[in-house]
Amino acid sequence: MKNPSTANPENRSLEALQQGPEIDGQKPIDQFGIPFICFLLFLPLSIPWAEVEWWIGVVHYLACLSPTVCSVFYHLFMNHEGGAPIYDTLLCFDMFGVCLVNTLGALPIIHITLLCYPSSRRVAMLAYLLLSGYGVHCAVSAQSNVHRLQSFAWQAIFRLVLFMLRLTGAGRGSPTSLRLYLTMDTLALLGGLVNISRLPERFSPGRFDYWFNSHQIMHIMVVLSIVYLHWGMLEDLTWLKGYHCPGE
Ligand SMILES: [Zn+2]
Repeated sequence: MKNPSTANPENRSLEALQQGPEIDGQKPIDQFGIPFICFLLFLPLSIPWAEVEWWIGVVHYLACLSPTVCSVFYHLFMNHEGGAPIYDTLLCFDMFGVCLVNTLGALPIIHITLLCYPSSRRVAMLAYLLLSGYGVHCAVSAQSNVHRLQSFAWQAIFRLVLFMLRLTGAGRGSPTSLRLYLTMDTLALLGGLVNISRLPERFSPGRFDYWFNSHQIMHIMVVLSIVYLHWGMLEDLTWLKGYHCPGE
């Protein structure tokens, strides 16, 4: 693994250089590699497969796993010497993982929130998928971290509307999961903001190259956000098996 200060910077794109501590992929791999193994092995054990519709479990599991898989792959090859084209391809792959958790993670939430309104549920799922397609396009073609974060805004607003429906009683779902989902989105947003603000290394360049830089803080917040998604979904799944819509 090359040291960031000795590797040849001419082999990288400007974008790669702006990533700073991202260049040496070892620490970020630790931060996503360990959660990846834990999610891969232990997350399925906590999903009540026999009590829920199979697709909910599969979609939720893939949602939790996808950002860690894509990010591990991206960071694994961060010491490549292929220049900007390779870096941009890897970055697209990393962003695709984030897009997948945003898309797949929300589908079971939409299903449960609109459980008793089948027509609205189908329309909402289709609308969210279309919105997600647009988000993927924006995220993989974005030219800066700010634009990358903005790519997820419409999906976040859509989820906020779902949470408002739950809050007002119009939407269904476990009463305890709402707080967990709101924490999930708050952590994801804060992680994105820390990443684009480049705090704390902005105030002390070089000091946080290996530890406690903004990119690492963002990784930890994203992992915690996924954990909150999973906890929220477990609450919803427990609630779901004992709930029947009025008139059923
Ligand atoms: Zn990263």
